[in-house]
Amino acid sequence: MKSRGILRVAINAPLSRLFDYLAPEGAIARPGTRVRVPFGRQSQIGTVLENADKSELPSSRLRSASAIIDREPLLMEDDLWLIRFTADYYHHPIGEVVAAALPAPLRQGKPLENPVRKVTLTTAGAEADLAKLGKRAKRQAELLTIIRDGENLNYGELDAAMPGWRRVRKSLAEKGFIEEYEAADDAVAFENLASVGQQKGPPLNTDQKNALKIIRSGNGFRANVLDGVTGSGKTEVYLHLIQDEIDAGRQVLVLVPEIGLTPQLVDRFQRRLGFAPALLHSGLSDSARLASWRNARNGSAQLIVGTRSSIFVPLKNAGLIIVDEEHDSSLKQQEGLRYSSRDLAVARAKRLHIPVVLGSATPSLDTLQRCREGSYENIQMPVRAGKAVPPLMRLVDVTKHDAFDGISEPVIAAIEKNIVGKGQVLVYLNRRGFAPTLICSGCGKVAECSRCDSRMTVHAGSGLLKCHHCGAQRNVDSECPECGSSCLPLGHGTERLEDTLQSRFPGEVITRIDSDSTRLKGTMSKALAMATSGDARILVGTQMLSKGHHFPNLTLVVVVNADQGLFSTDFRGGERLAQSLVQVSGRAGREERQGEVIIQTAFPQHPFWNELFRGGYQSVADSALREREAAVWPPFSRLALLRASAARREDAHNFLDKARRTAENAGIEGVRILGPVSAPMERKAGRFRAQLLLQSRQRQSLHQLLAILRATLEAAREARKVRWSIDVDPIELF
Ligand code: ADP
Ligand code: ZN
Ligand code: ZN
Repeated sequence: MKSRGILRVAINAPLSRLFDYLAPEGAIARPGTRVRVPFGRQSQIGTVLENADKSELPSSRLRSASAIIDREPLLMEDDLWLIRFTADYYHHPIGEVVAAALPAPLRQGKPLENPVRKVTLTTAGAEADLAKLGKRAKRQAELLTIIRDGENLNYGELDAAMPGWRRVRKSLAEKGFIEEYEAADDAVAFENLASVGQQKGPPLNTDQKNALKIIRSGNGFRANVLDGVTGSGKTEVYLHLIQDEIDAGRQVLVLVPEIGLTPQLVDRFQRRLGFAPALLHSGLSDSARLASWRNARNGSAQLIVGTRSSIFVPLKNAGLIIVDEEHDSSLKQQEGLRYSSRDLAVARAKRLHIPVVLGSATPSLDTLQRCREGSYENIQMPVRAGKAVPPLMRLVDVTKHDAFDGISEPVIAAIEKNIVGKGQVLVYLNRRGFAPTLICSGCGKVAECSRCDSRMTVHAGSGLLKCHHCGAQRNVDSECPECGSSCLPLGHGTERLEDTLQSRFPGEVITRIDSDSTRLKGTMSKALAMATSGDARILVGTQMLSKGHHFPNLTLVVVVNADQGLFSTDFRGGERLAQSLVQVSGRAGREERQGEVIIQTAFPQHPFWNELFRGGYQSVADSALREREAAVWPPFSRLALLRASAARREDAHNFLDKARRTAENAGIEGVRILGPVSAPMERKAGRFRAQLLLQSRQRQSLHQLLAILRATLEAAREARKVRWSIDVDPIELF
């Protein structure tokens, strides 16, 4: 008897290893093919990663795959390489990496092609004499005529052409005039290729020409950092690079932060390139995402624009990857598989021997350091394109001025002046809701979340107290549960700011943009349209409003409170604050009129301000890099964070103690182990959280240790009572 091949299968389960199955009798399933396999008492969808001749399992314990789902591999060798690389680098179970790489319908075992039922004419049907169908068959004749005139119509098209046709269908089929079959739905591919006319861009300036020259001079892989101030024309440079690739018949993948995927950007791409890019983001339906994925894989989508998970999309003929706003934290997934889409973009480009472009007005310190070391190419665009000039920035000391509900007099005056001058104002506060706390006027008790170590935020619109950490909510207390005195909202959120501004400027249209005001479908694009047209004279918003947008009339940006960032305990605090201030400032004065930026602070003497005003982001970045070098923080060392949470505090700590002992006994030099300690906000959603930080100057040692930890901890008794994860290159240390 000839032995059957072994399939080594990745399964969506929190285990690192592959699972061996016998291929179904007489069948082959090459790597990249999905299979249905028995798993425990259930059946699971898995993906074949390797073929083998024999298994380490005794043949009596080997089970057979029950079905092969794909006729040809869904994922090619390069795609599988990226999946393996991700699983290795992030020390994450490979089956979960495959799951993250696939759109939901494919993960669930649905076919790659959306099959649609089509109707075609038989020879008999083509030759049949309509008159002989008889009087009572008028509807049959009508349907046959439609089918003759059309070309293999599908059910949807027939529904539109002749309502009720389905009742007549059977008679025609019985006469042998028509046949039905299933075929791939290619409607989306055609839409994608439909030409919409191509608009010309502005003539490039010297910096842009220079940037293009440098990037085009590369041969094969190179990481190009397009370090250009907001409005310097980076997107114009992308457009030229994208056109190059399309002319050469290659595909381009553009990664943007969630927030960057605005209709504005997509419109601009479409107008300039003459076709609609294939989109991949969470706002699309499953079938639309699957269509983009399929068209990227088969090569019919020339340009794919997507958020972080689109780094995994298969590309038939990739020519270039662009990562816009490469510093943005939304490019890093913060739960489950914690990967950096930017870093994977660089790895993937290297593997494919193609260039990658990382663009930002505020490049991350990690990226800047790589430029200094010479592994990335730094290309600067220091001035705004066109006629726009940089905005004027100044501080307002809130301790020295009267304030009107959180807004100081000088700011009120500036808003007034800009409105009178037909400008537009953006008021930025990175805190949604009405007020961050509800406090008792008698005993001073604040409303706390019962499941988290945090306070409840007051939401006035809904009359609810909400926890922004776990989502818990309850009615606002009108009186204190302890002493019966009345309760008052304390502090300011965007909702309250909107009220305040509306009462101060009663005649003006104010639009608030934050995750509360844009939760309903369509509300975001409506609000953005109000902002772009200038109909809304005052915009109030969180960071959602601060990045990537182009509001032509915007003349003043007000930062209500920057002080939280000045005293952050995270070593990335200064970098983050500078990035968000520069990004939000970049919204002001993007066309002819000069913009103005006012930042309210209670600490105008803080050295951060001097640094930012004197030397801009560059200077903040320089000194932050010096500090990090002295303290051996990234990018001068590598970090990994082991997190654990449990219903009981001691279970989380026991698990991490076990991890610490394992690490100490692993015999690997050069890795510092810090902790375990409780997380800064220890209790979240009723679970106690703790963490262990690993730090090393050598990537190699750190990764060897992580591999040992993963293997030991997966099997450890202490792991049963906790949820745990490894975060490689964490960007949040809690
Ligand atoms: P960035 O992506 O760096 O923020 P954009 O590419 O969006 O910059 O350009 C900012 C603005 O300047 C846009 O309105 C754009 O049309 C305009 N612009 C870009 N390049 C030029 C140029 N060479 N000449 C005139 N206007 C330009
Ligand atoms: Zn009280
Ligand atoms: Zn909570």
